[in-house]
Amino acid sequence: MQDSSMQDIQYQPNLWYAPAPPTQQWLDRLVTPGSIEISAPETNAAESEKREPAVRCAHCNATITSEKYKTLIDGEFAHFQCNPTGNSFYFGCYSKAEGCQIIGQPSTEFSWFTGFAWRIALCNQCKSHLGWYFQQTATESFYGLILSQIIRGR
Ligand SMILES: [Zn+2]
Repeated sequence: MQDSSMQDIQYQPNLWYAPAPPTQQWLDRLVTPGSIEISAPETNAAESEKREPAVRCAHCNATITSEKYKTLIDGEFAHFQCNPTGNSFYFGCYSKAEGCQIIGQPSTEFSWFTGFAWRIALCNQCKSHLGWYFQQTATESFYGLILSQIIRGR
């Protein structure tokens, strides 16, 4: 499993991973998958600290981050975007994801977020592609984790 996912990464064209600004065509097709439940970030800090459900890799169940690190980017937790090769991604934003391994050089090409460079974020354990790490400055950064690639606890 580990070997085959690494092979996939090597043989995929790089653009497969590249984010891109949304086009009108994709905005028109935007649908919210019924199977994915998006809850608003906790506003009550005490409640959030109490529960802190783990966010896990959908492939190997490794802990990736925690719901307490959910963050709003451009006012939204969940984003729907499409890359130059036509792959669409529905992902959520987290300020921290210690279970991710970041690979590749930072790139601002096709970035979905103005001013942010992106790198590929893999599961540290099974190396599945979970999303991207977006970085603007040394301190301004977040992870965009593909919601079908993670399991969100409650
Ligand atoms: Zn994994």
